[in-house]
This record gives sequence, C-alpha cells and structure tokens, in this order.
Amino acid sequence: MTSLPNSTASRDIAYHFHPYTNARKHESEGPLVIVKGKGIHVFDEQGQEYIEGMAGLWSTSLGFGEQRLIDAATKQMHELPYYHAFNHKVSTPSVDLAEKLIELAPVKMSKVAFANSGSEANDSVVKFVWYYNNALDRPEKKKIISRIKGYHGVTVASGSMTGLPANHADFDLPITNILHTSCPHYYRFGLEGETEEDFATRMAADLEQMIQEEGPETVAAFIAEPVMGAGGVIVPPATYWEKIQAVLAKYDILLVADEVICGFGRTGESFGSVTFGIKPDIMVMAKALSSSYLPISAVMIADKVYQALADNSAKIGTFGHGYTYAGHPVSAAVALETLKIYEERRLFDHARAVGQHLQAGLRGFADRPFVGEVRGIGLIGAVELVADKAAKTPFDPIGKVGAYLVGRAQAHGLILRNLGDSVAFSPPLIITEAQVDDMLERFGKALEDTQDWLAQDADA
Ligand code: PMP
Repeated sequence: MTSLPNSTASRDIAYHFHPYTNARKHESEGPLVIVKGKGIHVFDEQGQEYIEGMAGLWSTSLGFGEQRLIDAATKQMHELPYYHAFNHKVSTPSVDLAEKLIELAPVKMSKVAFANSGSEANDSVVKFVWYYNNALDRPEKKKIISRIKGYHGVTVASGSMTGLPANHADFDLPITNILHTSCPHYYRFGLEGETEEDFATRMAADLEQMIQEEGPETVAAFIAEPVMGAGGVIVPPATYWEKIQAVLAKYDILLVADEVICGFGRTGESFGSVTFGIKPDIMVMAKALSSSYLPISAVMIADKVYQALADNSAKIGTFGHGYTYAGHPVSAAVALETLKIYEERRLFDHARAVGQHLQAGLRGFADRPFVGEVRGIGLIGAVELVADKAAKTPFDPIGKVGAYLVGRAQAHGLILRNLGDSVAFSPPLIITEAQVDDMLERFGKALEDTQDWLAQDADA
C-alpha cells in the first residue's frame, strides 16, 4: 500500500502504535483506512466496499449505522453525559441495564459489576475470585485454571489467563496462580480411534489431574469461553461441558463463563452457556452487549459470590475496586437499546436460523484441497487450512497461508481474520441468507486464489 505524504495512512505510520500488528511490517505496508460503515458493510477511503465478515472483532452485532443506537447515545449525552457509581451514587441507565442483564441471565444471578472492555472485566474476575476466597477465610484457594488457546484479554491478569504464546512471550506473563489445562480441539488433539466423547472424558480427566496435583484446596476457579474464539473458533466436543462441570463441582471450584464473544446470540442462543448447558457462577460480557458502539463490559455474579464480597467490603469499609467509567451512562443507554433491538427483532432466533445457512455453506468447502477442518456453530465459524489433509499436517510456518487467504479475501471485498491458518467468520447478527451467500462467494474466490498460489509454490 503506497501512502501519500499527509495521508491518513502515512500519518498512521508516523504516529500510531497499533495493537496486534507487526509494527515493522506496518511501517512499510500501512493500514487499511476504514471511513464508513452501513449494515454489514464497511468502506475504505477509496470508496471500496467490504463485507465485515468478522463484525469488527466479533463485536458489531447490529452492523454499522444503526440509527436507534445513535439516538440512544445522543439522548443520554444531552441528559447526563457522565456519572459514576462510586460511594453510593449511580446513574439510571446503569441500573436499568443491570436489571435487564439479571433478567436475561441463563442461571440465577445476583449482581452486575460494570467495566469497559473484556480484558478489564476479566481482570475484575480475578480480583473478585481472590477476594471471595479471602472473605471465606481460604487464603490458599487462589489458583485459576484457564485453557491452552483460551482468550480472555491482554491486561496483566486477563493476559495471563489467555493461553496463547504471543500474549505471554516477552511480556513476562503469565503471573503466578494462573494455570492452563488442555485445549478441547478434537480435530487437532483427539487421538487415533478416540471418539469425541472419549476425548471429552480425557479433557475432564486432564483438568481433574491438574486440580489434584495442585491440591484442590488451592484451586479457586476455572474460566473458559463456551466456544473458544481467538484461539481458533474451537467448538467443544460432545459431552465436554457436562464432564468439566462435574469435576469443578466435586472440588468446590467456581466456574467463570467468558461470554465476551458467545454472549448475545452468537451461538444461536442468548448465551453460549445456554447452547452448551453451562451453569456458571460468574459470567463475563462485552462486545455485543452494546454492539460495540461504545465500550462497556459486565461481570455477573451469583449470590454466593456476592454475599462473600459484600460481607468483606463491610469488614474493610469499602469494596476497593472500580473504574471511573464503570456503568458509564451513555454506554449503558446504548447497551440497553441494543438489548431491546435483539428482543424486538428476535435476533437470537435469526442468528440460529441464518447460522445454519452459514454452517452449511462453510461445510461446502470441506472437500477443497488444503481445507483440513470446517467448524462452527450459529454465526461463528472457521475454515482451517493444512498442508496435508490426510495427515492434518499444518503449514510451516503456521499463519502464512492463513494471512495470504485473508489478503485475497480483502481483495475480493471481504474482511476476515486468520488465527494461524484458521480463517474465522463472525459476521454481524443482522446478516441475511443472501448476504451469507455473497460472503461465501467472495471467500470461495479467495480460497481458489490461495489454492493456485500453493500449487505454484509446489511447482517452484
Ligand atoms: N474474552 C474473550 C472471549 C474475547 O474474545 C476477548 C476479545 N477478543 C476478550 C475477553 C478481551 O476483550 P477486550 O479486547 O475488550 O479487552
């Protein structure tokens, strides 16, 4: 990408240090500058249109330009643009939103704490879990188990729970008391002749073994996404969640469902916890909570957790945690309007129906050369490319082919994201069947380009 002096791209290179970007590569290649969005589409500076096949970062569930969210924000800006929730104060929208979330919760929950991002919410979770066990006079019960390839954010504690190498390398993470158990990806880690159910049994046995080796009295919580997102869109094997929950119940370990991606319709139900029969003690939400029009996240806690935190706050004199922008009235107003729209337009049912269309369409690519696995549920999916289909051999280096495919998709007007050599799909929930077909057609062209490129590579 050439960038003219004083163009947005050249100023971006000059002044902006990007998240999740190879900084040196960025200096030569520059950014794709997106200037406008409408529905499932975004447009760059040249007016080129793209389908946003990832809804931004699995997040803009209502697509771009939803007037009702703009109006909700404007109205709240006029009325009360900011207030906080410290020291017994509150603004109305945050109360309305807390009430609504408790009503939507798939299991009985007691209270909602707000934050501004998934990472911050998960950092709050770590602190809540530690405080909870101190309150219960179990100071040794502090370890939190997450999973290899799990994604929970990038702050010091949430980044520690994330189980991906790039989030730890040279950041001196993970911190102590954070452990990672096996990744439940059957295609990748299932053994020869092992059924999906047997694989799930082994995953639960791995978890139990870790708990026993560490000492159950030292393990406080297990955190997981119902479907792993950034780790590669990994749908758990059949019976996984019931077996995992049985282990946790046996050792009095809190279950934290990270619903940051799965929450609000992504898997075809209100929450991933509903889809997989998960009964969490703590639930974390962000992204689709406000369709990402404004930053807001939430942590929902069960009554037993709340009671312990409340008792301890009374003992100490205050609950010494909270963010300036937690429960921001404008973000809360937008989130409330988002939840209203989900209900009025029955968007979770829509996601389930159109999700079946997406899943069927994606599976149509399964017999293509280099396609190792197609997976997904609802409106989240992935196509994993491999060097050898029969042996499931990954490409070397991992990610090069995935990045090429995503580049070709962009050239065909489709924004996707590669997680290694798995290419992820997570379009806005408002996508129609016809738009899914359009998206898959563009993807098909990119896949063909990639196959041609790989064939040339083989000839070379
Ligand atoms: N949890 C999950 C499951 C996520 O997917 C993400 C972000 N992709 C986060 C937490 C972190 O959210 P944020 O980027 O808002 O900090």
